[in-house]
Amino acid sequence: MNEKWREIASEIKAIYGNKDYVALHEPTFNEKEIEYVTDCIKTGWVSSVGKYVNEFEKKLAEYTGVKRAVAVVNGTAALHIALKVAGVKENDEVFMPALTFVATANAASYLNAIPHFVDVSEKTLGLDPVKLKEHIHDIGEFKNGQLINKLTGRIIRAVVPMHTFGHSVDLDPLIDICQQYNLILVEDAAESLGSYYKGKHTGGFGVVSALSFNGNKIMTTGGGGAILTNNEKLADYAKHITTTAKIPHQWEYYHDEIGYNYRMPNINAALGYAQLEKMDDFLASKRQLTKQYHQLLKKINGVKVFKENSFEMSNYWLQAILIDPQKHERDNVLGILNAEGVMARPIWSPLSELAPYMHCPKADLTMTNHLNKIVINIPSTPVKGESYD
Ligand SMILES: *Cc1c(COP(=O)(O)O)cnc(C)c1O
Repeated sequence: MNEKWREIASEIKAIYGNKDYVALHEPTFNEKEIEYVTDCIKTGWVSSVGKYVNEFEKKLAEYTGVKRAVAVVNGTAALHIALKVAGVKENDEVFMPALTFVATANAASYLNAIPHFVDVSEKTLGLDPVKLKEHIHDIGEFKNGQLINKLTGRIIRAVVPMHTFGHSVDLDPLIDICQQYNLILVEDAAESLGSYYKGKHTGGFGVVSALSFNGNKIMTTGGGGAILTNNEKLADYAKHITTTAKIPHQWEYYHDEIGYNYRMPNINAALGYAQLEKMDDFLASKRQLTKQYHQLLKKINGVKVFKENSFEMSNYWLQAILIDPQKHERDNVLGILNAEGVMARPIWSPLSELAPYMHCPKADLTMTNHLNKIVINIPSTPVKGESYD
């Protein structure tokens, strides 16, 4: 088997032009980025004021089909503010998958809210609506229009599904649960720019949602994120508190609450503006790559490439393979691929096992623990086509 994995490694390298080392995900730039960023430098508008922030926000709202987008410094900040403006408060519990990037839980913690971990589904790698419902039956009590955790006495305020590697969770049943128990839906759409659920862009279902444009995401602003919403008031409020809560005035400094310096700098927005124009190319290339990996990994027993469900159109941001634990050992596979110069890594450790979150409330996490042993990400950078040369 080890020999087979070495062959796979060499074929992955061939896909990427036989480079010595193939990273998991690298940004793709061309003349457009250079042009817009140079414009910022030449005009001096590199920082907190400039035309690209507004232009980028407008284009992003258009692209994702929401009324408003507010650009911020990173995806974690976007999620922090999304949860805040959605109404998550101190001591509230927030349902979220145990299998996500740590930022989902950190953002809730910044508001002194408590993550409450729920299991994920094998079908989507995201929050499992059936298990969420069962868990609510076990620990929840619906009283005076609020869902209460009977074990802690705290209000459960919100649900934060995350679209893992760009694959949409099954949103309809989650929306039903939110309606039934008066829970606020906030999507962590950090990984799913360009992904659609039943024909509508992810991030457009939550009251508020968050995107990330970190260097490893499908498109990047260097570092950056955005808050999406169809609610104008929440968008205005998000803009206000991410720009220090300053009341606009020509010279006076007056701030009407504790705000945050979370605004995206103009130079980063310029990068984003150029990147957003390439989304169609990125998406096409990722789909092509999934097909190639599917062909390639057919050669090895007990491995499959994770595929989208019929209800979605995935952006395939990170390619994920699932190994049969009877036939392959995760760390052995990771060891071989990385030694051969092909970066590969496992899906996240369950957040419920991390030191800061070990004591948080949680549901049965059987699938989370299982997937942690069998899901591996392999190189996913769009393979350069004519359109980016
Ligand atoms: C990338 C990511 C974020 C935000 O990350 P930043 O690095 O702060 O932009 C949040 N949640 C998930 C699931 C992510 O993958």
